[in-house]
Amino acid sequence: MAPQAAPAPSFRHVLVLGAGLAGMRAAWAAKQAAPHLAVTLVSPRAAPCGSSFANRNNALGMQAPRPGEAEAFIREALALAAPGTVALELARALAQDAPVALSDLLSLGLAFRRKADGALARYPGCFSPPRRAVVFDDLGAAHGAFLARVRGLGVRLLHGFVALQITRDAAGRATGAWLAPLRDGEPVFLRADAVVAALGGPAPLFARRICGPGGSGLSFGLLRSAGTELVNARFLQFFWGHAADGGFVNPGALPWSLLAPELAHHAEARRGHCPLAYSLPDAALDRWLLARRGADGLAPLPGGAPLALFAHAGNGGARIDADGRTAVPGLYACGECAGGMHGAQRMGGGMALSALVFGARAGRAAALQPDQGGTALAGPPPAPAPGLDLRPERTFLPRLRRGMDRHAAPFAPQDRTRAAFIAWLRTQEEDAPSLRQRLLALSALCVLDAQ
Ligand SMILES: Cc1cc2nc3c(=O)[nH]c(=O)nc-3n(C[C@H](O)[C@H](O)[C@H](O)COP(=O)(O)OP(=O)(O)OC[C@H]3O[C@@H](n4cnc5c(N)ncnc54)[C@H](O)[C@@H]3O)c2cc1C
Repeated sequence: MAPQAAPAPSFRHVLVLGAGLAGMRAAWAAKQAAPHLAVTLVSPRAAPCGSSFANRNNALGMQAPRPGEAEAFIREALALAAPGTVALELARALAQDAPVALSDLLSLGLAFRRKADGALARYPGCFSPPRRAVVFDDLGAAHGAFLARVRGLGVRLLHGFVALQITRDAAGRATGAWLAPLRDGEPVFLRADAVVAALGGPAPLFARRICGPGGSGLSFGLLRSAGTELVNARFLQFFWGHAADGGFVNPGALPWSLLAPELAHHAEARRGHCPLAYSLPDAALDRWLLARRGADGLAPLPGGAPLALFAHAGNGGARIDADGRTAVPGLYACGECAGGMHGAQRMGGGMALSALVFGARAGRAAALQPDQGGTALAGPPPAPAPGLDLRPERTFLPRLRRGMDRHAAPFAPQDRTRAAFIAWLRTQEEDAPSLRQRLLALSALCVLDAQ
């Protein structure tokens, strides 16, 4: 059957794609800013999924600088940027809104870790020694609390759909999205006056990954094909872990005096952060391990189990302004698919903060943007070619993921096999038989900085 267009709402409509921390907060803010608006929150699954609500730690840390700590927080964010970039106004927005983000979470009654006297416990974060981060446990309960909040405000929840195209009109404005059903049913077009992309990050593009389940890996491809610019897209956080079970291993804890005594002086600094650094001197340890990876991607250790590198979360995404606006009118981005507030490295707990801060800002700005009028009266756009089929070819995704493990790892050699992988991705982006496959190839090209 041909794809169908859902009935166009006769009043203004904000469409939020993705229901992690960023999407939930965006839908909440949009409905709170303009209660008369229709706000729809789309996610593939009703159950907790993604890195916000289904990560394997069952906990999230959040940077929560108090007003007196704002300047130090901003300085740290800027110092961690290279070789990526940080937009000062976005780092300022994080510092400025952090107290509000924390009180939002407290208002939901989340299970924050506390000291014996009841005060919030504060922790250092990766790359960030000051005790500024707060931590909450029980992500299933957090998901329930967010759902209750958005439902209570009147947000419409649409589960079971995956966005495969953000549409634009002749003037370049975002007009809605084509959604494909995860299981049975027909694709649907949802028209909207504003679209907020909260689609999560690029880690699902990798075979070895420790992101939460239910991510699509489509966010960069969707945003790029909608006309946005990406920033810092190649800087993902990677963790080392045991190849067998993915259990974390901090390279700083390895016996460097035996492995490579000339590098042992980096071990203490390396213990200060779990993700690999792109520009800090202690990356020498990670380079040493990477250079020993075999064709299977494993770095053998004398007398120990082999290590593998796991993609964890992206630090870049669509370039946004302080209100989550992309360069495409009517299209906003927030959370792990937005970039510019973190550089190549980010403070541990920085992503939960940015998902909440830019989720709230994007949702509010989308709801309050001037009414363009008329979109509800226009007919549905043509269904995209080559089709909204969600099943990728059997061999495509494993091949893409294996290639990403090898060629999108930090410091990967710019060799002929990488060039061949990029050439294959380009043909997939142009000619693959499904739109999803094309978008996955484009997402991968964005991470490889080769789109
Ligand atoms: C193990 C682990 C521990 C972490 N710990 C921390 C921490 O302590 N502090 C911190 O700051 N960060 C941490 N992170 C990173 C952080 O959890 C994520 O970066 C953050 O939660 C991302 O939020 P999000 O809302 O942008 O994305 P997600 O929570 O991943 O949500 C994305 C949503 O979009 C949906 N989606 C995806 N594609 C589509 C599509 N095409 N159409 C419709 N919906 C779609 C997904 O199903 C999901 O609902 C951790 C990550 C992991 C994996």
